[in-house]
Amino acid sequence: LVSREKKPNDTIVSIGDVHVGNSETQFVMGPCSVESYEQVDQVAQSVKNQGVNLLRGGAFKPRTSPYDFQGLGEEGLKILRDVGDKHGLKVVSEITHPQDIALGEHYLDMIQIGARNMQNFDLLKEAGKVDVPIILKRGMAATINEFLNAAEYIVSQGNANIILCERGIRTYETATRNTLDITAVPVLKRETHLPVMVDVTHSTGRRDLLLPAAKASLAIGADGVMAEVHPDPAVALSDSQQQMDIPTFESFIQQLKQPNVLAHD
Ligand code: PEP
Ligand code: MN
Repeated sequence: LVSREKKPNDTIVSIGDVHVGNSETQFVMGPCSVESYEQVDQVAQSVKNQGVNLLRGGAFKPRTSPYDFQGLGEEGLKILRDVGDKHGLKVVSEITHPQDIALGEHYLDMIQIGARNMQNFDLLKEAGKVDVPIILKRGMAATINEFLNAAEYIVSQGNANIILCERGIRTYETATRNTLDITAVPVLKRETHLPVMVDVTHSTGRRDLLLPAAKASLAIGADGVMAEVHPDPAVALSDSQQQMDIPTFESFIQQLKQPNVLAHD
């Protein structure tokens, strides 16, 4: 069902009046984790000012260590919803448990399925039963074929509104947190009709690489870019190394929106 052979024309995923997969580039921006109302509100104000439509923030955080901040759970989803409504932004957050898909349906405009859960088949099936768009991240050790099969799990249950998100894969290279598989973008665009985004934060893990990685993603055909923004990254409860502060985020968006964005500097 996700194959381009079965459906030659591009799928446009609509999150309310925000469309992903047409000629307009969309950005998903916001903090790694929802930490407080004020924190999300500060970011959302700037996100709105920059003309970005999609606000992210993690409430259920799948952390490598059990001792790291695990997220605010449902309270985090509530905060994100309230802030999104205040600023007229669509909100996106990760759901990690099949039984919590209903919470996502209640609070969110788009449900994220994270890299660590790309092959959580029960979660994928539940996500396939709701009428909420899904952004599905590529597993950090998943082939493109496995990634497409994960999307197929969702579509096979009825939900065809899926955005695929490349977020870097595990390789032997240690200069970046993961290795951004940039050519996955055109491969996915050729093999499927689904929109494709690139998460530049979790792929690079480096603030200094966010802008070049985003430019490369757009140049190679991505429909959108995800990145993390925090009012004070140094004190962030997760991913403090790679989140942008607000001035950096504003210059990031302004540079990506320049008409000559793909020219070398
Ligand atoms: C995230 O986007 O918050 C996240 C945890 O990303 P990933 O699942 O790609 O690691
Ligand atoms: Mn993060």
